[in-house]
Amino acid sequence: MDDAEYAAARRELVDGLRRRLDVDERTLAAIESVPRHAFVPERHRSHAYADRPLPIGHDQTISAPHMVAVMTDLLDVEAGDRVFEVGTGCGYHAAVVAEIVGPGNVYSVEYVPELADSARELLRRLGYDVTVRAGDGRTAFPDEPPFDAAYLTCAPVGGVPDQIVDRVRTGGRVVAPVGQVGSQRLVRLTVEEDGVDREDHGGVRFVPMQ
Ligand code: SAH
Repeated sequence: MDDAEYAAARRELVDGLRRRLDVDERTLAAIESVPRHAFVPERHRSHAYADRPLPIGHDQTISAPHMVAVMTDLLDVEAGDRVFEVGTGCGYHAAVVAEIVGPGNVYSVEYVPELADSARELLRRLGYDVTVRAGDGRTAFPDEPPFDAAYLTCAPVGGVPDQIVDRVRTGGRVVAPVGQVGSQRLVRLTVEEDGVDREDHGGVRFVPMQ
């Protein structure tokens, strides 16, 4: 496939998402802008614009586009907001969020060093100014001031660790899959002065958080 064919497939994917999901046009525009095929391994590239997860090596997967759309929408961020991602994977989701918040505003941490390295390099090559570190989401970016929002692309079993929630300013949001594989829920937390407000957004399937 050439670039024009990929772009056509991407448009078709976004049209399908628009019919099926109740998400903002801004979110859909971000999905339409990011070349997902560049983030998936060569042998899966012909399926890059099918709405399904794909393997990216190291036993990890890139989420299905509808899941990226739903999570990005729930994050409810705008240009200039600073966002913390736990689980860079191949970098696709970070690129989608970067389309909305703009250069220099996405900070992402990835547990597998090889994935962190390749995502950092690919994002740079595609022109996304995203800060990628290898490490554990619980302790990453200790010197950054509070973020406007955070999301996890891996599922902590016992709820979002306090160390991550504590990195988000009052009024900010945390979107995450939580629970054991087989019974995970997608949740959105809103950080309040004296705790968090928790919304449930249905059953999901993500890799476990290390
Ligand atoms: N957003 C990614 C999907 C990544 S899959 C994309 O668009 O490709 C989830 C990722 O979370 C995996 O790469 C996994 O290695 C990473 N992960 C698991 N536990 C982690 C932890 N404690 N800290 C940081 N990353 C973690």
